[in-house]
Amino acid sequence: MELRFNPLLNQWVMVSSVRKKRPWRPKDFCPFCPGTEEMGTGWDIKYVRNKFPMLKDNPPKPKKNPPFKSAPSFGECLVLVETPEHNPEDLNALSLGQMIKVIRMMQEITEKYTKHPRVNYVAIFRNKGKEIGVSLLHPHSQAYALPFIPLRIRVELENSGKYFKRFGRCLFCDILSAEIEQKERVIYSNNHFYAFLPYFANWPFEVHVYPKRHIQLLTQLNEDEIIGLADILRAVTASLNTLFNKSMPYVMTIHQAPVKGTWNYYHLHIEFYPILRDENKLKYAAGIEMGTWSFTYDFVPEENAYRLKEALRKALEIGKVDNLIGKIW
Ligand code: ZN
Ligand code: ZN
Ligand code: FE
Repeated sequence: MELRFNPLLNQWVMVSSVRKKRPWRPKDFCPFCPGTEEMGTGWDIKYVRNKFPMLKDNPPKPKKNPPFKSAPSFGECLVLVETPEHNPEDLNALSLGQMIKVIRMMQEITEKYTKHPRVNYVAIFRNKGKEIGVSLLHPHSQAYALPFIPLRIRVELENSGKYFKRFGRCLFCDILSAEIEQKERVIYSNNHFYAFLPYFANWPFEVHVYPKRHIQLLTQLNEDEIIGLADILRAVTASLNTLFNKSMPYVMTIHQAPVKGTWNYYHLHIEFYPILRDENKLKYAAGIEMGTWSFTYDFVPEENAYRLKEALRKALEIGKVDNLIGKIW
């Protein structure tokens, strides 16, 4: 296992051959259910090391052979098993109390690697749905403790840094204020968080979740904000899963600051990339998207935001989610 550097993009690639051995949706057996050797019993939430990690501590053997270079791969890949139950549809089907535990676990993992001398970034994400290529269906998120700051985060840091220099304000705080002022793309909010379909969405039903308070890391969330985040993630997933007559496949990614250094101009947020554009149609990242990283948006963002709000109202009506503490816009 090693990291290989792509000098064209200034980006590291995680090379791992153990991953191809990972089980592909084994029948009749779920490694994340209580009672397995790996999981044990008596837990209501638990994280374990990924048995087929992309990264792990390796003796250093960096190679340089310009223009190529490699670095020892280290860091860790964790699986956050969010509930002992095998079958809940998604985060909206977890109770608020259980979702709070999920957020606390994400904080705990961030905290743990903040102290690790070689970890620079804690990437937490959630892949949901067969269409996304999820290999195990038991509800889970993942965390990668990385030695490097990933490219997408570096781009956000660079641009928000420039913005701060120029205007003396946080770019994310300004985006949030503008979304609130324009109202129409805001889907849901509670006392501490807002969910909106961004003005510049790439995916047809992309949703971003911002905390009101200008903070950089999950570990900075206070008790009330933890409840707020748990609540809004239930609301967003309820909306996505009610939009069409099927469960929505998506990627959820938590964008927090690097765990080393100070990044005062950055602002914690969460992004959802749902991949359905219609009940039976996937939006592929294809030629223009993969080939050039340019997205086309074949809808009106404001209309899709409206559909997400309606879907959330319906989700409440039909009991796909309960006990929401915020309001639908
Ligand atoms: Zn299971
Ligand atoms: Zn901010
Ligand atoms: Fe982001």
